[in-house]
Amino acid sequence: MSKFIFITGGVLSSVGKGILTASIGKMLQVRGHSVSIVKIDPYVNVDAGTMNPYIHGEVFVTEDGGETDLDLGHYERFLDINLSKLNNITTGQIYSSVIEKERKGEYLGRCVQIIPHVTDEIKERLRIVAKLTNAEILLVEIGGTVGDIESLPFFEAVRQMRLEEGYSNTLFVHIALVPILDVTNEQKSKPFQHSIQELRRIGIQPDILVARCRVQIEESIRKKISLFGSVPYDAVFTSYNVDNIYNLPLELDKQGMGDYIVKRLMLNSKPPNWGEWKSIVSSFYNVRDSVKIAMCGKYTKLSDSYISIIEALKHAGAKLGAAPKLEWIETTCLEEDPSSFNFNNYHGIVVLPGFGARGTEGKILAIKYARENKIPFLGICYGFQLAIVEFARNVLGYKSAHTTEVDPNTPYPIIDLLPEQRNLQNLGGSMRLGAYKILLKEGTMAQKLYGSSIISERHRHRYEVNQKYLNDLEEAGMIISGISYDGKSVEFIELKDHPFFLGSQSHPEFKSRPGKPSPPFLGFLNACIKRKKFIVAKI
Ligand code: GLN
Repeated sequence: MSKFIFITGGVLSSVGKGILTASIGKMLQVRGHSVSIVKIDPYVNVDAGTMNPYIHGEVFVTEDGGETDLDLGHYERFLDINLSKLNNITTGQIYSSVIEKERKGEYLGRCVQIIPHVTDEIKERLRIVAKLTNAEILLVEIGGTVGDIESLPFFEAVRQMRLEEGYSNTLFVHIALVPILDVTNEQKSKPFQHSIQELRRIGIQPDILVARCRVQIEESIRKKISLFGSVPYDAVFTSYNVDNIYNLPLELDKQGMGDYIVKRLMLNSKPPNWGEWKSIVSSFYNVRDSVKIAMCGKYTKLSDSYISIIEALKHAGAKLGAAPKLEWIETTCLEEDPSSFNFNNYHGIVVLPGFGARGTEGKILAIKYARENKIPFLGICYGFQLAIVEFARNVLGYKSAHTTEVDPNTPYPIIDLLPEQRNLQNLGGSMRLGAYKILLKEGTMAQKLYGSSIISERHRHRYEVNQKYLNDLEEAGMIISGISYDGKSVEFIELKDHPFFLGSQSHPEFKSRPGKPSPPFLGFLNACIKRKKFIVAKI
């Protein structure tokens, strides 16, 4: 039987629930417990796949092809485990399934209601994940803020779980903001108190309270939160700003959070073994150098849109002792005034994933520059596809070559729809999604980077390289270094006579973990470091 920890948030969103949840998981994992984490997103979408990354942040893809909330990426990176699409529950999924059951007559003529039918569906889902993952402890993060109308059925369901699973098998952690007033520099606990009242109004008494504050909260504030929140003083912790997110579990454990949780849940734990995690965290602090990377995309004003790529670059940087300094280049601006950017100042260029026409010509300009000026280049998904478009236009001379995603009538559809995508009705959940095996050609850079000829990476795309042009591309010097296991899709391309030019149809960033950086990112960063050394030597 699994135990459950429910994590809720108050006062405002983006209060750090995701990182807190991942950190609690880590504190339990280093004490020898198996954990899994569910993220509940109370929005009505069935999954995150149809949501704009500019508003909601990156769509994280699981091994089994779930298009999920970006917090699942944090969970995977902190715990070094693979999660499934089942680990992300939304209102859309719950209602679809309740309505389907109603249509089948499974409710036997009863009036179908939020309580018990919707709440039962929620509880059943959580218990199924606990069972399937074999987790001793299932952590459940409820997205949004307490008091939101759309999250009410989820709060009600977990309130019922306290009754059904028992006190020692359930734990409620509530995190809320403690603001510091600008003028007086005073910490304020009132918003926190209100959010606890909001929780109590729906029948949940929290067990642990976490103050989200820039700095460690003052003694008097901690006492107030304990008193008004009705939790012991020892159960109040601070999640203060840390310069590296992977440090948070260590900081919270120092405050006694891990010990408090295992005692409260009466877990039979081993003493915490932080050895490996500490050495991973210290590798982020031991970087002596830095490299400047141009990040070319169209969602560049919200860095959460590319969070897994940023993390993958950081993982590689920590391994190699050089911090990636990322500069965001909005490719639409590049189109308007190409001369305003000097790519020569960069040690590497990344062309980011994306959809649609906006900014594509700017991305193609960046790729051309990287290819011609021998600047290390990494193209991911759309970045890979556009690298092939650029090559077709400027090396093969197919001037109007394009992806049919942007120009459906191009005479050179070098990137085209997968045949099975042509007559699709629904946009949600219908791309080529999840992990697929890839065969890497012996002796290529990709094969050397991975140190293996059969690998697996996660995917999320609708278009792909048109096989009709493979010969042309290869004859002109493009190396097709990876193809899908079924032979149908081009997966990796590279160029000879270039220090590092790699494009990947897949998203290797989703599998990068601290301490275990993704091979393409490691290779790319290594090439950036070499370029920096070369430039410095020249001066
Ligand atoms: N728009 C491209 C496709 O659908 C690339 C997708 C991506 O970059 N994730 O194939």
